[in-house]
Amino acid sequence: MTQVKQKVLKNYIGGEWVEAKTDQSETVYNPATGEALAEVPISSTKDVDDAVRVAAEAFQTWKEVPVPKRARILFKYQQLLVDHWDELAEIVTKENGKNLAEAKGEVQRGIENVEFAAGAPSLMMGEQLPSIATGLESGVYRYPIGVVGGITPFNFPMMVPAWMFPMAIVTGNTFVLKPSERTPLLAIRLAELLEEAGLPKGVFNIVHGAHDVVNGLLDHKDVAAISFVGSQPVAEYVYKRGTENLKRVQALAGAKNHSIVLGDANLDNATTQIMNAAFGSAGERCMAASVVAVEESVADSFIEQLVTKANEIKIGNGLDEGVFLGPVIRDAHKERTLQYISKGVEEGATLVRDGRNDEDAQREGYFVGPTIFDHVTSEMKIWQDEIFAPVLSIVRVKDLDEAIDLTNQSRFANGACIFTKSGGSVRQFRETIDAGMLGVNIGVPAPMAFFPFSGWKDSFYGDLHANGKDGLAFYTRQKVVTARWV
Ligand code: NAD
Repeated sequence: MTQVKQKVLKNYIGGEWVEAKTDQSETVYNPATGEALAEVPISSTKDVDDAVRVAAEAFQTWKEVPVPKRARILFKYQQLLVDHWDELAEIVTKENGKNLAEAKGEVQRGIENVEFAAGAPSLMMGEQLPSIATGLESGVYRYPIGVVGGITPFNFPMMVPAWMFPMAIVTGNTFVLKPSERTPLLAIRLAELLEEAGLPKGVFNIVHGAHDVVNGLLDHKDVAAISFVGSQPVAEYVYKRGTENLKRVQALAGAKNHSIVLGDANLDNATTQIMNAAFGSAGERCMAASVVAVEESVADSFIEQLVTKANEIKIGNGLDEGVFLGPVIRDAHKERTLQYISKGVEEGATLVRDGRNDEDAQREGYFVGPTIFDHVTSEMKIWQDEIFAPVLSIVRVKDLDEAIDLTNQSRFANGACIFTKSGGSVRQFRETIDAGMLGVNIGVPAPMAFFPFSGWKDSFYGDLHANGKDGLAFYTRQKVVTARWV
């Protein structure tokens, strides 16, 4: 029986499912129903020590396995993920709440990471210069770095771990994953399928838990690198503590993504894209649209069309046919969101669509309907903070210059989008906006696996981003050999 069905989850260490050395646990809920799905152990640093020891031992043999052989395991894994696509998506919907179509899309994104990583034999090739001086040559060779710790958030239980472990293991590292304690189930299937694909024991491990596990990984002398994805304060903390312990750290953090809608935009496209980007996955995407700066000349018609589309959204359990908007992750997160909505009203923004009143948002589970504020200003908390829920703020601007100035005041700089038909405006936007991932007439410009996931400012701490060639470089180190053949 798959471990997903176990009431109390176990850690996965050295290819065995083992009980955590702790008496603490948390309940994993289905946020659409409030039903308890499992108990997740809040493991101790002893569990981390066990996992890292096993991973460090496995590294000694795994790093010697030829790269094409390692890649072949990922080819098999890719096929297994495809075979189990629906099952994986259903787990994501049950533990996270996003609708099934979105969950299937997330699984696809994860599979794409495996496909990219399976290209390791080409990606890991070095470079040579046969003559750097008379009779002298130089070449670069790539090697793994050791044990990598991966710490992931609740909002993408499949995709975010898949940003990390496929590339980390195919390049010869071993891996300890600490999944979000709010969505720990999917990782179990990822491990079971890795085993089925033939991954040797100890190469991939899971330690469930929270702060203690994170600190255990950050402080462990045998952990060479940390990949983190989560909220801004925790990303900053992880980056500081990890680098203080002289580890390589990439920490992808929170966001507040801005869209700019100009007077010449196709408003039907802009409103459809922004509606999806703001309310899809209940706004719980690091690439969610959370602020729109719209040119005054089209603001009224933009808002009218957006509200009409938001009114058509079906709210409910993501497993049910036709549902677009599922719940937010927990009751406490719903409460926090409702407080932000009240705060926006207090701050003087105009609430043009109040998601608190939607009939379907009153059902059991943690629902908030699509909420839209107009006349928001950059002094307001609803403009500044990441709410991470289906709440959208609209700012009216006179032109593109003002929209860019405003956007660049944000401490976050993950994604930014522009809606326009003007090439000149797109160029100005591209050259002057502070954000690492830009969209032109699209709402969620999340890069595919072969490009880096490129947040700036307080949306990312580190140097090498996740995915693409950055990901490869993060999980490898190089030797430069200079030789004279005498
Ligand atoms: P979170 O920061 O609460 O948790 C992320 C991970 O850190 C979890 O595994 C959690 O157990 C651990 N953690 C939480 N608090 C900790 C602490 N005090 N000390 C040590 N570890 C701690 O984030 P979340 O709520 O699970 O996820 C949502 C956040 O992630 C949002 O801010 C979102 O923008 C961000 N995110 C960013 C990206 C990106 O690419 N930049 C992608 C996905 C999500």
